[in-house]
Amino acid sequence: MILYFFFFFLVGVGSGFYFNIIGKRLPNGEDIFEPERCENCEYEFKWYENIPLISFFKESGRCPKCRNKLDIVPILNELFTGFLFLLCYIVFGISYDLFIALGIVSLLMLIVITDLNYYIIPDEILVFFNFYFMIVLFFQLGFNGFVGRILSGIFLFGVMYFVMFLGDVIFKKESLGGGDVKMMFTFGLVLGPVVGLLSIFVSSFIALPVSILIMSLKKDNLIPFGPFLLISLLLLFFMQIDTSMLFHMI
Ligand SMILES: [Zn+2]
Repeated sequence: MILYFFFFFLVGVGSGFYFNIIGKRLPNGEDIFEPERCENCEYEFKWYENIPLISFFKESGRCPKCRNKLDIVPILNELFTGFLFLLCYIVFGISYDLFIALGIVSLLMLIVITDLNYYIIPDEILVFFNFYFMIVLFFQLGFNGFVGRILSGIFLFGVMYFVMFLGDVIFKKESLGGGDVKMMFTFGLVLGPVVGLLSIFVSSFIALPVSILIMSLKKDNLIPFGPFLLISLLLLFFMQIDTSMLFHMI
């Protein structure tokens, strides 16, 4: 049990390390397999020097060569990913749902990095995770359930595309990012059509107060919606809300 806790936390920290690299380099078309280098002196980090705990206790968060202080944000990302992986294991145990949950967390961390820094959601990331979810769902739901989820993905994509089209006509400017619309396929896949639709509303509720705060703090009002969508996907998946529960509430 405790061993599993450590395992999932460490796998999360290791994954978080790669999410930082992929999220930073993929949008710039850089090689994602090159080792990390110090921004100041180009020192090539040894693999163990990337582990947050080692970097902090041995080098007090500095480059081993030039003693330049390392950026804390990627290290926090790593620890946070570790924490979320651990949480997935605690909630779902060893199950198909665990693999879905780990996929959602990974997608969330990657999109947070790319969308906050570059305002984009790279297609490569979406395609990769769609395939990943499809494989897990195929084994979990069987062929018919699998086809149902694909149709649900297409349905949700269509709905969001229509919303984007309306928004563009009404506001006469781009209201939603293309990445947000494409991501709806993933939502239909993971949540099914009804809960998938619900997730759009939930994310708007989360996004509203945060957006107002961001807009009051800085002048440009470009707000990445992707992370809010994924937080609501994660919440609804963790709460295991399904369609029958929704109909009971109505
Ligand atoms: Zn250095």
